[in-house]
Amino acid sequence: MVFEYAPAPESRAIVDIKPSYGLFVNGEFVDAHGPSFKSISPSTEEVLAEVAEADEADVDLAVKAARRAHSRVWGQMPGRERAKYLFRIARIIQERGRELAVLESIDNGKPIKETRDVDVPIAAAHFFYYAGWADKLEYSGHGTGSIGVAGQVIPWNFPLLMLSWKIAPALACGNTVVLKPAETTPLTALLFAEICQQADLPPGVVNIVTGAGETGRAVVSHPDVDKVAFTGSTEVGKAIARAVAGSDKRVTLELGGKAANIVFDDAPLDQAVEGIVNGIFFNQGHVCCAGSRLLVQESVADEVLARLRRRMRTLRVGDPLDKNTDVGAINSAEQLAKIRALSEIGEQEGAERWSAPCELPDHGFWFPPTIFTGVTQAHRIAREEIFGPVLSVLTFRTPSEAIEKANNTPYGLSAGVWTEKGSRILKMANALRAGVVWANTFNKFDPSSPFGGYKESGYGREGGRHGLEAYLR
Ligand code: NAD
Repeated sequence: MVFEYAPAPESRAIVDIKPSYGLFVNGEFVDAHGPSFKSISPSTEEVLAEVAEADEADVDLAVKAARRAHSRVWGQMPGRERAKYLFRIARIIQERGRELAVLESIDNGKPIKETRDVDVPIAAAHFFYYAGWADKLEYSGHGTGSIGVAGQVIPWNFPLLMLSWKIAPALACGNTVVLKPAETTPLTALLFAEICQQADLPPGVVNIVTGAGETGRAVVSHPDVDKVAFTGSTEVGKAIARAVAGSDKRVTLELGGKAANIVFDDAPLDQAVEGIVNGIFFNQGHVCCAGSRLLVQESVADEVLARLRRRMRTLRVGDPLDKNTDVGAINSAEQLAKIRALSEIGEQEGAERWSAPCELPDHGFWFPPTIFTGVTQAHRIAREEIFGPVLSVLTFRTPSEAIEKANNTPYGLSAGVWTEKGSRILKMANALRAGVVWANTFNKFDPSSPFGGYKESGYGREGGRHGLEAYLR
C-alpha cells in the first residue's frame, strides 16, 4: 500500500535572517576588513544572507579579544560562576529551540525532524552537561587550570551541534574561544552569538569568525592560540597537524570515517534494517561516523537486502522543513559533485547500483538514497568516505572475516554490530579498531559519552569526562 502524505511544512516565520552579518568579536557584531560571501539554502539555492569573511587581521582582533577575556575575566572566574553562564546558554538554546531548528534546516538542508529532535536537544544537553563539570574539575583527573585561548574550526554537517561540542567543554574549563563555522553553514553560529549576548556572557569569551579555509588557517596558525580543536576532513586535519607541528599548541582532530555496520544472521532483521537506514541515511549520510559499509552475513544477505530496498522505497526525500521528510538536501553543489563522482566510479568498477525511486525537487542539491551491491574491499566506494546517502554492501561468512573486513580501512571512528548474542557483541567490540562501537543501535550520541577516532580518524576525545582533558592544564 502506498501512503500519500499531505505536505506538513514547518513555518519559517520564527527565524529572522538578516540580509548581512558581521563577525562576532568581543561581544559585538563588527564589520570585517575583507569581502563577504553568500550563505545559500541547499534545498532551494536561495541566497539567505551575505556573511563577512574574516582575514588575518580580523582573526587577530578576535584572538586578542579572547586573550583579554581569558586573562582578565573568564580564566579568573570560579567554576561555579562560569557554570551559571553555561546553564543559562543551555536554557536559552532550549527556549529558542524552534528558531535554531528551523534556521539549521534552512541553512544546512537537513530535515526539520532531525534538527528539532537531535541537533538542538543534544546541543543544549552538551551545555547542561559541561555546566555541571565547571565547579568539579578537580574530580576530572585532568587538572583544573585552563589552557587559554582555543581556536576551533568546525564542518557543515552538524553546525550547531559541533559548535556545542567545541564551545561547552572549552568554556567550562575556563578557556575562551575563537570559533570558525563552515562557510556553507554559518547562520546558526551567528544566532548562537546572539544567544551569548542574551546570556550576558562577558565580551570576548566567545568570538565567531566566519569565512572559508583561509580564515580557518588564520585561526589555527595564530601564534597566540594555545589550543587547536578541529573537526573536518582527514586531508585538512593532516594539513593542520603539519601547520602546528613544532609549536607548543595542543591539538585535537576529529576527522573522517568509513564505518562498518555488521549484521549477523541471528540479528533481529527488521531492527537491523532500521539501523542500516539510520546509519547511512540520517543527515543525508553527511555523518563522519555514518555506517557507510554494510557487512552482512552471507546466509541472510538476500533477505536483508530485500527488506532494505522495501524500507528505502518509503523514505521521503524533499523539503527539509516538511515534518515528514526523512532525507533532505545535499549540503552544497560541491558535495553533490563529489557524491556523484564517487558513485560513477563505483559503477565503473563493476558494483551494482540501486537508488530508491523518488521524485527529486527541481531546484537545490539532491541525491536519492542509494545502495551498491557486489562491492569488494578493492572498490573505491568501499574505501573512501563518500559523505552522502550511499551505502556499500559487502558480505562475510565468519565473525573473523567480518572483523578483518571491518578493520581494513585507514579510518577508525565507529562501527555497528547487530546480533542477538551478548558475548559476540563484547568480542566484536574488543576486536574492532573504532572509537565507538554501537550494538543493536547506531548513531546514538550523548554528552556523557566520549567520541573520537583511531588511525586517520584523528586523535583526542570529545564528550564525557574525557572531553575535558583537551581543555585543562
Ligand atoms: P573540511 O575539512 O573541508 O572543512 C572543515 C572546516 O575546516 C571548514 O570550516 C573549513 O572552512 C575549514 N578549513 C578548510 N581548510 C582549512 C585549512 N587549511 N585550515 C583550517 N581550516 C580549514 O571538511 P568538510 O567537508 O567541511 O566536512 C566533512 C568532513 O568532516 C568529513 O570528512 C567528515 O567525516 C568530517 N567530520 C568529522 C567528524 C568527527 O567528529 N570525527 C564530525 C563531523 C565531520
